[in-house]
Amino acid sequence: MTTKMLKFVSVPQRQPDKRTAIARRADFDEIYEDFTPPEATEQASRCSQCGVPFCSVHCPLGNNIPDWLMLTAQGRLEEAYGVSSATNTFPEICGRICPQDRLCEGNCVIEPGFESVTIGAVERYITDTAFEKGWVKPVHPVQERSQSIAIIGAGPAGLAAADQLRAQGYKVHVYDRYDRVGGLLVYGIPGFKLEKDIVARRHKLLEEGGVVFHLGQGIGDGEGELSFADLRSRHDAVLIATGVYKSREIGGPGVGLAGIEKALDYLTASNRRSLGDTLPPEAQALDAAGKNVVVLGGGDTAMDCVRTAIRQGAKSVKCLYRRDKANMPGSAREVKNAEEEGVQFEWLAAPEAFLGEGHVSAVRAVRMKLGLPDATGRQSVEPLEGSSFTLDADLVIKALGFDPEPLPQLWGQKDLAVSRWGTLKVGQKDFMTSLPGVFAAGDIVRGASLVVWAIRDGRDAAASMHTWIQENVTATAKAEQG
Ligand code: FAD
Ligand code: SF4
Ligand code: SF4
Repeated sequence: MTTKMLKFVSVPQRQPDKRTAIARRADFDEIYEDFTPPEATEQASRCSQCGVPFCSVHCPLGNNIPDWLMLTAQGRLEEAYGVSSATNTFPEICGRICPQDRLCEGNCVIEPGFESVTIGAVERYITDTAFEKGWVKPVHPVQERSQSIAIIGAGPAGLAAADQLRAQGYKVHVYDRYDRVGGLLVYGIPGFKLEKDIVARRHKLLEEGGVVFHLGQGIGDGEGELSFADLRSRHDAVLIATGVYKSREIGGPGVGLAGIEKALDYLTASNRRSLGDTLPPEAQALDAAGKNVVVLGGGDTAMDCVRTAIRQGAKSVKCLYRRDKANMPGSAREVKNAEEEGVQFEWLAAPEAFLGEGHVSAVRAVRMKLGLPDATGRQSVEPLEGSSFTLDADLVIKALGFDPEPLPQLWGQKDLAVSRWGTLKVGQKDFMTSLPGVFAAGDIVRGASLVVWAIRDGRDAAASMHTWIQENVTATAKAEQG
């Protein structure tokens, strides 16, 4: 069947409808509606089918975007799903939360002149339809293998690797200290970007495919934890996919006051509340209702915090960021969503001190100006003398980024090599750490990054683990038998 593509000249770009800001503020549901079938077909047909598709080049998974756009435009959705899922383990998740404006869509060649093809929304539509129609099936390995693999961390890196390794027939055991599967997909990223049943249905599929999950099982030397050495002795190979969880801190007078909280504690409490969990007493106060909230930072985490506070019914929500809007690390689309929902931004402003008696009541901030670019090309910032101002604040949330936990110390593994940033060192091609048979993937290797990169790393690490096991474990066993 042929369908005319290249319709970008006559058909304008259309993203899926967004719920009104008033409706969005009232709940934690996703803000984008689904494409209807005619909308998806029409939007997919805007693609010009480039010979060298820059969208694919800038997709970390190298997705075959033009092909699944053409198949969607032709109504051949099951085939589109086949092509899309061949390179992406969780296309419906990437379609929702990739910063497309910086990746695939940001590099679509019909821009400038025309607005980019709506790649992410079509990717999401294809896989949501595939789930509805029952085309998404658990993995069925062609052969079962005797070797077993431990994966530490059930975030996107660990899950992508689990899927690939199970497909190869290995016994796959995933260990996670959390009680649910998904890592930051569940406890970091709020429901208005990614509803949690989307992650839960992947958990179910993986389990149906034979992946064994050990939830609530931390790896380490703490109480109730399984030691890394023990884990290693039980399995033929190990993948570390533990993410990065050490919050970056801020200094300054008053920083120890009550009411100054870490972003991830705040977001986890909110996500748990939405999931119906009973919160421990220390987490119950992590609620913005009726409060003046000030969020420090300008990345995706800060955007998630300000928009969560709005939904919790905060009296006011302000975001303090030391650079300007153009230099914000967060996705421009998310900043726009936050503005629509009522968040006020204080650009070029940084905290100087936290004021209050026992509990924070205000933040004293200072205006900043952009200076000359530093060695990385990024403009430096410096305070403007005499520009201090004060913001009322009953809740201050620090969203300043994350660093890795010190795994070699926590796990008593002094030979586990780390970079100067504390991330695990791995071979560029084989993803193996300094410990033989121990591999690593995702944020613990890259530092805080993106879901799509975690998926990519998880898939690549799995391929490398398969090669290593075949060359080492299987070959050794054969030699011993023979
Ligand atoms: P994680 O998702 O962090 O998963 C690691 C898992 O390991 C966790 O489940 C953890 O419990 C487990 N674990 C850790 N240590 C142990 C241990 N010792 N024993 C057992 N289990 C352990 N990216 C995007 O692409 N788009 C977004 O919109 C986006 N928004 C974000 C919003 C927030 C608030 C945050 C914090 C991040 C966001 N990111 C986003 C980044 C993205 O979530 C991460 O890059 C991605 O989740 C990394 O995947 P991972 O599998 O490496 O680690
Ligand atoms: Fe775009 Fe992300 Fe999908 Fe790649 S995975 S096509 S970057 S939305
Ligand atoms: Fe289609 Fe844009 Fe990709 Fe070209 S760059 S193949 S027009 S989506």
